[in-house]
Amino acid sequence: MFNTIKKFFSAEPEVTIERIPGRNEACHCGSEKKYKACCLPKDQRKGLR
Ligand SMILES: [Zn+2]
Repeated sequence: MFNTIKKFFSAEPEVTIERIPGRNEACHCGSEKKYKACCLPKDQRKGLR
């Protein structure tokens, strides 16, 4: 089970990046704010780009 999940994420690292919206687009959390004004700072703190 865990091995399957690990394999999935390591096999497709770009999937995570594609989910992150542009800075001026609506945030992925559904707040309808712009991403840069909402979760962008939080995501950067987590180490996402
Ligand atoms: Zn957000």
